[in-house]
Amino acid sequence: MNVDLTRTWNQHVVKKGNKSIVLEIIKNRSPISRADIASLTNLNKGTVSSLVNELIDEHLIYETGPGESTGGRRPIMLIFNASAGYSIGIDIGVNYILGILTDLKGEILLEQIISMKRLDYAEILNKVIDMITYFKSNMKKSPYGLIGIGIGVPGIVQKNGTVLLAPNLGWKNIPLKQIIEDKFHVPVIIENEANGGAYGEKVFGIGQKSDNMVYVSAGIGIGVGLIIDGRLYQGNMGYAGEMGHMTVNVNGGKCRCGNSGCWELYASEQALIQKAIQNGYDENDISLEKLMELANTGDKKAIQIFAEVGEMFGIGITNIINTFNPQQIVIGNRMASAEKWLREAVERKLKENLLWFFKDNLTLDFSQLAKYSTSLGMTAFSIENFLKIDLTSESS
Ligand SMILES: [Zn+2]
Repeated sequence: MNVDLTRTWNQHVVKKGNKSIVLEIIKNRSPISRADIASLTNLNKGTVSSLVNELIDEHLIYETGPGESTGGRRPIMLIFNASAGYSIGIDIGVNYILGILTDLKGEILLEQIISMKRLDYAEILNKVIDMITYFKSNMKKSPYGLIGIGIGVPGIVQKNGTVLLAPNLGWKNIPLKQIIEDKFHVPVIIENEANGGAYGEKVFGIGQKSDNMVYVSAGIGIGVGLIIDGRLYQGNMGYAGEMGHMTVNVNGGKCRCGNSGCWELYASEQALIQKAIQNGYDENDISLEKLMELANTGDKKAIQIFAEVGEMFGIGITNIINTFNPQQIVIGNRMASAEKWLREAVERKLKENLLWFFKDNLTLDFSQLAKYSTSLGMTAFSIENFLKIDLTSESS
């Protein structure tokens, strides 16, 4: 017998490919008719109809009343069923844990945030597990239930979901994906929080229109997520973007990563607090929020501290622009909330230091998703994994 396995396999791939394309179009453009899908995809009407029927059987789309007519009978419209399942996105920061429950369109339905100070691994893990349990028990009934959990971590994550090193949390070699999957029995995705943030901005945020975007996550530490040619760039082993640890001062102090004079020692929330303490502010009372409050009331010292940290921020960003020639820089994470006090200093540094030709077609933005960039990005990874569609090709 001579069965052509390659051909059978290719037909399978083509079918799966077409189905993903149809689902993607319905998700991005619903309500939409079968005829419009056929003309957008160049698939014949019979193929579209059978794929649509499969998607209806799978509860991923549903039919709704007749839409606008272009002459003749008004067509039945198709809608993406965002409530077919739910996704959880968690952002483990150095001093907070933020979790969200979303539908399949990334709409936030529930959220929880907790502040923390120097918790050890077991305590953080317990809080994450509690959060997931809370979301699960508050989920509405749906055909697929929880479709996945994505967790962003401030550290270096291997492609197999093991956290190799998170210096600001004191973690080393933690098989987090395995641990959470064993506990909840759904697909789990672990990523560096800056990669998650970059993806959140690309899919849902201010980075939707750019294919070459650098997301700078500035919290207690600094991490960078790179969108290159429209895709998240992870590097050979998944470690790309550790620019918080690029040296900006050869005679600088020791960093928790082992290197000296790292960028995050001078341009992060941690740097800001340190500077404030050196300037006489009360160690037990000072925080990013407090410093912003002071700056808003015209406190000159507070304003100056933001300006100094902003300059160091600009120096690092100059290095990044020189390396990647992006069309957009998005500053995210906690420091993004201080845009009012950082922007001018960052822009001044870029103006002084950047080679003139880099400035063409370059925009500097502060995140609008604010604290949700990473958790939404982690949710997007899970949804994409579940629906097998590409969320970065939003056609809205
Ligand atoms: Zn370092």
